[in-house]
Order: sequence, then structure tokens, then C-alpha cells
Amino acid sequence: MLKNLKEKEIRDKIIILQTEINKAKQDYFQNDNPYLSDNEYDSLVERYKKLIKKFPSMIPENDKTLGIGSTVISSFNKVEHSSPLLSLANAFSSSDVENFDESIKRFLGKDLSSDIQYAVEPKIDGLSLSLRYNKGKLILASTRGDGKIGEDVTHNAKTISEIPHHISNAPDILEVRGEVYILKSDFIKLNQSQKMQNQKIFANPRNAAAGSLRQLNSEITASRPLRFFAYSLGEISHNLVDNQKDLIVLLQKYGFKTNEEFYFCNNLMELMAVYEDFNQKREKLDYDVDGLVYKVNDFSLQKRLGARSTSPRWAIAHKFKPEESFTKILSIEIQVGRTGTLSPVAKLDPVEIGGVMVSSATLHNEDFIKGFDSSGNKIREGVDIRVGDLVSIYRAGDVIPKIKSVSLSERGKDSTPYIFPKFCPDCGSIVRKENESSIRCYAGLSCKSQVIERIKHFVSKKAFSIDGFAEKQISQLYDLGWIQSPVDIFFLKKKHGHTSDLSIKSLDNWGEKSADKLFIAIEKSKKITLDKFIFSLGIRYVGEVVSSILAKYYEEWEVFCKKMENLSLKNNLAMEELLNIDGIGLKSVNELRLFFSNNESLKIIHELPKFIEIEKFQLKNIQSSISNMSIVFTGTLETMSRSEAKSIAEKMGAKVSSTISSNTDLLISGDSAGSKLKKAKEKDIKVITENEWLDLIKK
Ligand SMILES: [Zn+2]
Repeated sequence: MLKNLKEKEIRDKIIILQTEINKAKQDYFQNDNPYLSDNEYDSLVERYKKLIKKFPSMIPENDKTLGIGSTVISSFNKVEHSSPLLSLANAFSSSDVENFDESIKRFLGKDLSSDIQYAVEPKIDGLSLSLRYNKGKLILASTRGDGKIGEDVTHNAKTISEIPHHISNAPDILEVRGEVYILKSDFIKLNQSQKMQNQKIFANPRNAAAGSLRQLNSEITASRPLRFFAYSLGEISHNLVDNQKDLIVLLQKYGFKTNEEFYFCNNLMELMAVYEDFNQKREKLDYDVDGLVYKVNDFSLQKRLGARSTSPRWAIAHKFKPEESFTKILSIEIQVGRTGTLSPVAKLDPVEIGGVMVSSATLHNEDFIKGFDSSGNKIREGVDIRVGDLVSIYRAGDVIPKIKSVSLSERGKDSTPYIFPKFCPDCGSIVRKENESSIRCYAGLSCKSQVIERIKHFVSKKAFSIDGFAEKQISQLYDLGWIQSPVDIFFLKKKHGHTSDLSIKSLDNWGEKSADKLFIAIEKSKKITLDKFIFSLGIRYVGEVVSSILAKYYEEWEVFCKKMENLSLKNNLAMEELLNIDGIGLKSVNELRLFFSNNESLKIIHELPKFIEIEKFQLKNIQSSISNMSIVFTGTLETMSRSEAKSIAEKMGAKVSSTISSNTDLLISGDSAGSKLKKAKEKDIKVITENEWLDLIKK
């Protein structure tokens, strides 16, 4: 593909990538405020490297894009390192590590079947620091800077308790290098206290460590929970040890902390085993680790191997699989949900993220694609998402993959903004904006996707729980016209049983056994509790919790159904009653009204109960002085809050309502009770005081 690009386009591409890399470096090294993750940054650099490798003639003169770090800021004195602080080359896969091992053997002229010994240490996500001791006294601490010139942060480094100021029996000149970092647990505490004091919140422990070490005021550095791991040497007046393993022991003797996760490996195979083991436990460590560093153990071999321009040949950082990756959007598809909401989904060029292949990511809604959140604020700096875009995808935990950012440098000139459809991609009806963020197809049961999704919901575990009835089967029977509403499920055996001309068992992918299994599951599902039945209707904002509150309140389907039909007739009393039930909000009430005034739904709810048995809601057998009573609180209670009183009443098996109705059994009247007390007296409802209430619940 690159071959077809015109020269100017390639040059443009190189310049854009350079700009992005340099901006990222500046944010990372100078402002301690990276907007790209390490993985995104690595990916940018990899693409840049590929491009200039392919078109070496296009590399601008004096290109420093791939140099380490960035120019140092002026607030600190500049320090030239006695020997450069190199950065490590990265290995992203085991084959990269194999190549690394092989290239060392080739370089050293060794037999490829011979073994190289390695020292392995976690790559801490912190800030490199070089410490110079003169006759055992700490005289200079400097940051990495650009690798050659760093910043003098001696005063600040001296405030870190894990950095010794004096070393006994040290050679005249000794440079110790290591990493300044902050524990994850300390990072959380630090941000909490920053927040309390209205100070800057740090994005991650690394930023916090960098920001703390590079303070102009040492007192601030001293107040920060900085730590230090030592892991290598810089300049040294005479040799003390001849390998990395012994060096770690020596550093400990000098009073430095070294990482307890140190491994010695006899060969490549052992490296791989350590990597696998460590990958399992790294989450449990109290500091961020983004990979393992493999170092050739023998210093004489290290010396022979030397360094390339910016990285040593004798070491490599084996990165852990990223929880995010870059990939291309192949297409944007619209899925129509159970309630008709149109959800855009990005179909991706499959990519591995954290060990899982990912081929689609949610795009949430039209605004998200355009670059705005639900409140109209810019996200991704307002960059929209288009088909063909290179995007970074991330997974947090087990959630559906999401899009984090768009790489504008990879966007082609012929790319056009995505236009959200005006018609339902499934049934062709005009779609309408339902609220700020969602667009909905209102075709209901004439829209296939909605029917399939509704039936899927109807047969799901928490509803009718009909096993062996997945989307594939539902879709197949829908296409045949055998199932168009949940009611049809209960006719399947009668109409499409084994003796029928149109039997399920004779369909593709079915047999007598699987058909029987389905019939049995359907038969078994016919007895259902009221809460599950309400849930199975798939009404928006009437999920598991709301369904069970409704079932508890109305107890019987007939009662519930009657009230809902009143609701649909815009009966204000029915609406008020619903709104007064604890846990029922206006959104649910509106959707209930919509559902019960829709002819298609009405047909279903009138038909269904003919084939099934809806069990009356059973309060858990609570025997108490107020069980099964409908009670109302009014006025101010002295001894407990209203919520606590309600919760006690419910635990004792009572139903709590906020208004007086003919169903009310008891009113508990606190201080300054008003209209409810009056109403209760009019209706001849029993009224008790707070003290009487306390007596009641003691029993
Ligand atoms: Zn539709």
C-alpha cells in the first residue's frame, strides 16, 4: 500500500508522525503529562521506523525524532552524563526475544545452540536517576534528560529515604543508576491529599513520581512518597564485580534497595518461563511494571556487545501484552436493540488486546462518533471517527472494547465523516431522536431486530429461562414465520411437533432430540413468578429490580395489569400510586405507560396468560406485627431517619408507600405532620406516634 503513495504524501506522513512523536515526547519528558499511553507511543514510533526504513531518502536532515527524551527544561542545571543513560529496545513478542538471543550469539560468534545467561528484572514504570558518589559521598543526582544531558536534582534526590547519602568502602568514583517510583497504594493516597488541597491530580504513578522529583522546591519532593530501586552502574573508578547477579548483591551491601523480583536464567527457555510466571502475578505488585528487562549477565560480554545509537545490544525490555492496540475500522454497523435503539458498532481489523482477539468496538451513539459526550463536551479533542481510521482500542476488565483515540496522521485524504442513518437499517422505518443521545426505530414488532432481541430477552435466564433457544434458532424460526411474538413459542409443539408437516425436527441444524429438548424446556417454563414475568416483557427501564418491586407491590398479575391499563388511559391516580412506590421513577412509569398503550404489547399480554401460570408474589414468610401491612410515614421522626424507618418496616414484611390511599393500614406520624395526617383521619386509618412505632418494632 505504501508503494502507491506519492512522494509528497509520504513526506507529509513523515512530518505528521514526527510532530506527533515530538509532541508526545515533550508531554512525557518535560510536562510530566503524557496524553498518549506508552503503548500508543510505542506504536507511533514503530510506524515511523517502518516508514523511514522503507523510504530512507525521505528522512529529514538532523532527524532527532527517534532520539531519547527531549531537550531539558531550563529550571534545573544541566548535567552531562559520564556515560549515556541508554534506553532499551523493546520486544513485543516471544519471537522478538528469540531474535534478540540469536543476534547476541551471532554477534559474539557463538554456536546458536549454546546458552547465554541472563539477569531478569521488572521494568518499573518510573523515572531513571543517576547517582554519583565521590569517595562514598553523594555529590550528584541527575535525571535521564535526553540520555546524554540530564538535570541536576541532587537536593530533591537527597530527600528520598531509600537513597543513601554515604556509602562505606565504596570506590573513589561510583555511579549507581536506578528508578525513582511511587507505590500504587501511595499514589492513591497522594492524589486524595492533592484533591483535598485543590492541587493537581496525577494521571498515574509515573507522572506523580516525575512531577515530585522535578520540583523546584525540595520540601515538596520530601513530602512525596518517592522510592528508589538501584539496578546498574555508570562510571566507576575500579571494577568491583563482573556480572549483574553479583552487582545486585553489592548494591544491597551498599545500602540500596534492589527489586526483590530478580531472576537468574541459564538460557532463553528459562526467560520465557519467568515471563509467563511473572505476567500472572504482576497485577498483585504494588508498583506498575510494564515489562521485564533481560540483561546479558556477564559484564565482559556486555562490554563486547556494546550499544547501537540509543540502546545497548545486551539488554531488551520484554513488554507485557498491552490492554490496548491500534487497528483499522473496516466498517461501522448499526445494531437495533430490543427497544429499537440504534447502536453503532465499529467492525475492526482483528487485533489482539491483552491476549484476546478483538474485532468490534462499541461506538455508543451518534455524538460519540462526532467527538462529543452526552453533555456536549468534546472527547478525543473533538476528533470524529470514520470508516478507515486507525484507532487505539482498549479493554478495561471484561467490558466491551472501546475506542480511545484516532490517529489523524493515518487518515486518508478521501476520508469522509460518518453519516448516521436516517432509516432503520433493519426495517427501513424513519428513525427519530429519542433524547440527547439516542436514536430509535419505532416500528416495534414490525422490525425484525427488535422482535429477535425481545424474544431473546423473553427466553433468557432471568425471564422464562428456556434453554437451547439462542439467537440463531430464534432467527431461523422467525424467518420461517413460525415465531413472530413470544406467544408463538407456546404454539411451537402443537403446530411444529414431530407429526406436523412443518416440523422443527426436520429443519436444518435440528433433530428429534433437540426439538424434544426445546419442547420440554418450553413446557417447564410455563409456571413463572410475577417478577420474572414482568421482567420478561422487556419494557425499558423495567429491569430485574424494578420488576421485583412492582411484583412485591401489586402481588397479582391481574391487579398489576388492571392498574397499568388505567395508567395508559392517563389516569392520574394510577400514575401517582406508581410514583409513590419506593424505587419506581418517572422514566419507568413513562415506559410502562407506553408499553401498556401499545396495541401489539396489549395483544401479547392478553394472550400469554392463557398458556402460562403466573404465580402470585409471595412475600418471604415474615411474621411480624406489621407484616403484609401497607404503611405510610409522615412528619419528622426523632429517633431515626425516614430511610432507616422504611428499611426496618420492609425488613419486617410491610409495604411502605408515601401517600395515603384506601389500601393504607397504618400511618406513623412524627413531628409536624401535615396533610397526610388529616387525610388518614378522614379515611379512618389507624394512626400511631413515633413511640408507639418504636414499641411495635421492638416486638
Ligand atoms: Zn426498525
